[in-house]
Amino acid sequence: MANKRVYLFGDGKAEGRADMKNLLGGKGANLAEMNRIGLPVPPGFTITTDACVEYNKLGKEKILEYLKAEVEAGIKHIEEIMGTKFGSRNNPCLLSVRSGARVSMPGMMDTVLNLGLNDDSVIGLAEKAENDRFAWDSYRRFIQMYGDVVMGLKPASKEEIDPFEKIMDEVKEEKDITHDLELTTDDLKELVKRFKAAIKRETGIEFPQDPWQQLWGAIIAVFGSWNTERAIYYRQINEIPNDWGTAVNVQAMVFGNMGDSSATGVAFTRDAATGEDIFNGEYLINAQGEDVVAGTRTPQEITLEGSKKWAKLAGVSEEERKNKFPSLEETMPEIYKELCKIETKLEEHYKDMQDLEFTIQEGKLWILQTRNGKRTGTAMVKIAMDMMKDGLLDEKEVLTRMQPNRLDELLHPIFTPESIDKAKVLAKGLPASPGAATGQIVFFADDADEWVKDGKQVILVRIETSPEDLRGMNVSKGILTSRGGMTSHAAVVARGMGKCCVSGAGALKINYKTRKLVVDGKEFKEGDWISLNGSTGEVYEGKLETKDPELSGDFGKLMEICEKFTRMKVRTNADTPNDSKVAREFGAVGIGLCRTEHMFFEGDRIKAVREMILANSEKGRRKALDKLLPMQRSDFEGIFEAMADLPVTIRLLDPPLHEFVPHDEKSQQEMANELGVSLKEVQETVDSLSEVNPMLGHRGCRLGNTYPEITEMQVRAIIEAALNLKKKGIKTIPEIMVPLIGTEQEFIMQEKIIRETAESVFEEMGDKIDYLVGTMIEIPRATLRAEEIAKRAEFFSFGTNDLTQMTFGYSRDDVGKFLEIYKQKGLLKHDPFQILDQEGVGELVQLGTDRGRKTNPDLKVGICGEHGGEPSSVKFCHKVGMNYVSCSPYRVPIARLAAAQAAIE
Ligand code: PEP
Ligand code: MG
Repeated sequence: MANKRVYLFGDGKAEGRADMKNLLGGKGANLAEMNRIGLPVPPGFTITTDACVEYNKLGKEKILEYLKAEVEAGIKHIEEIMGTKFGSRNNPCLLSVRSGARVSMPGMMDTVLNLGLNDDSVIGLAEKAENDRFAWDSYRRFIQMYGDVVMGLKPASKEEIDPFEKIMDEVKEEKDITHDLELTTDDLKELVKRFKAAIKRETGIEFPQDPWQQLWGAIIAVFGSWNTERAIYYRQINEIPNDWGTAVNVQAMVFGNMGDSSATGVAFTRDAATGEDIFNGEYLINAQGEDVVAGTRTPQEITLEGSKKWAKLAGVSEEERKNKFPSLEETMPEIYKELCKIETKLEEHYKDMQDLEFTIQEGKLWILQTRNGKRTGTAMVKIAMDMMKDGLLDEKEVLTRMQPNRLDELLHPIFTPESIDKAKVLAKGLPASPGAATGQIVFFADDADEWVKDGKQVILVRIETSPEDLRGMNVSKGILTSRGGMTSHAAVVARGMGKCCVSGAGALKINYKTRKLVVDGKEFKEGDWISLNGSTGEVYEGKLETKDPELSGDFGKLMEICEKFTRMKVRTNADTPNDSKVAREFGAVGIGLCRTEHMFFEGDRIKAVREMILANSEKGRRKALDKLLPMQRSDFEGIFEAMADLPVTIRLLDPPLHEFVPHDEKSQQEMANELGVSLKEVQETVDSLSEVNPMLGHRGCRLGNTYPEITEMQVRAIIEAALNLKKKGIKTIPEIMVPLIGTEQEFIMQEKIIRETAESVFEEMGDKIDYLVGTMIEIPRATLRAEEIAKRAEFFSFGTNDLTQMTFGYSRDDVGKFLEIYKQKGLLKHDPFQILDQEGVGELVQLGTDRGRKTNPDLKVGICGEHGGEPSSVKFCHKVGMNYVSCSPYRVPIARLAAAQAAIE
């Protein structure tokens, strides 16, 4: 059928399948698949993501016309299976309407539940369920959700509370009660009346009684929620294209709040924080799904083991646990067994950890959804490695399961034992997302954003979080909430971001108005320091010291698998022996870029550097360079030793000289005093070095070609260092790299100086070593002339920072001024300085590589710009045929994983 926009499912049959995620969204495809494998899923239908795209293009009227017949048939399908009737008073067919994009965007888009209720059918429902309170509670929830999502009645500012919550509070106050559960049927009827009146008053429109009107309104609202500010932001940080659209899933409602034989819950087939193979989750008796995730009631554990563990963490006695917070395993043992069977079936079928939502309606279990569960980086690695051990996945599948950037979390620091020993525990919450975080307290997400922009590090402290807080959560070091369980919004989102989070620390009394936090009688204000341990749930006073994690076990094994499949090597950008050592431990097989200028700032060297700059003759410069020589030599010895047996690419001096001189008068006076010259002389030199476009000025090989003595000194230091180590029996493989060439003649001139200097050192020291001379390729002209350059150069290293700068014509230092606006307007998808522009800059990289290898088939090619540690760029480098990528030490494992993935893709 042409333009099919609606796919039915129910009763063990489905028109869709798991592999139809693009069209049906993740949720829709899975609902179809769950039916196919025989799980008890409430019947319904999925409206395609294409229909949402059509809605965005053509508007509401057109899409309603297109959808009418198919949606009507869909409703008939639900009615037949459930034996209910849409719009009937006595036997109403009630629906849930949910969003569902290709990839999960938790909490970002809208949902409406209990749709189909009105002033008539609420009475019918009450009679059918023999439960007035349940029916009226369902109706008031529906009006509340519909009023918010479809009719737009929301709080006007962040300080204001939700208009519906406000009415709830008023009624509770009038009745002198504190909990929602204490509201009587009459109170709920009163709420319904006041909710409807508020909607009419604030929006000028009556709350619709016609179920069809309700349904179309909800469908359009879900389509529309694809383009809310928070959804757009979520897509931006998760790199989800804006043109995908969301599907809409319309499904028969099942109720977890029909009394004490009903319940609702969320479960994970493995531990999403640690990756351990432990079935876990939370549920609430007599509740609806949102009660579990909203953090407004303390959810109970599904398993007995989990429940006991929770009680211990929460300081709840076994007696109290059993009475007040028993596990599902204890309260509904039969259902629990059925759920366990389902979780095993799901893992076997999907071969991945599942996150499922279920509802028990009057003793019958329904599975509402399942998806691959969000997890921490640690859990990502452990789950895949465990599944490989169990024979569910092979090595290649393990690699494809990995998101390279998530490895970052395994490499993050933890608190030092000494700092923990000294630290004072303020409170204990749930270990919602592991890691260690320390920062200053802020209470509002937008403040977090501001503070971080000012260079501070913050912990976002909230009673509970909501999707509006996303941006603030993303920039914070950690998240702390006083309410909510392991599946609360804060916990789920933090794990997705790989950010440390402690949730449900009930001892904290948070006051948004005074911006204060009181715990155990002690007061903390905004700006005070606290620390969180997301692996234990502990909250500490003050700023704690952190240390690097240990890398072995599953991580080590994963790296071995990478090694097996990868073709491209990973080196590191390092300028110190310590960085070299760290990178080597992470598996770097050499240095791809040692920026020598960084050494020029150390200790006393800057004085000699400045003396050289100030000298106005070759003789004067040589005198200063003689002072630098031993320092550079010992630097190189340190690095060569740390990288023994591995290649070390050392780049000759690159930045413009003005970067080494002081620009304020006080420092200029100090420089004058140190060098014994007048302030005027210093200032004249500084002025003479000033350039309008320094990044396009006197830098790179232009320095070495105008002042050959600089190149001579650096090459002498490199070769002497290598020969000194050779004497000690340490093997070095120096690769001398000329920066920023644009013409082949520039390279030839530098190469001549390098080779002549090396020869004189060999002669003086009576020994030799092998070394290579190559060049950076970072000017577009050099890529075009690669054929000529490669006749002499032994290696190319693409400096994609400068190459991006010069290809786009965007200054590396000023791009921030317009980059965000460009991204928002869709003019750029990414920051090209972070993610290689494969179409433009990448084309030059490919062209330079191919042309270079034409005249020099053995040419070694690598990359050393920032892109060398960014997964999509690393994969591109593999395709280009590079020999290696080089990146900062902490990105080495990420690059290794991306390189291995590229090899098997
Ligand atoms: C580059 O330009 O990509 C590069 C690695 O050099 P730098 O960042 O030092 O200019
Ligand atoms: Mg550069």
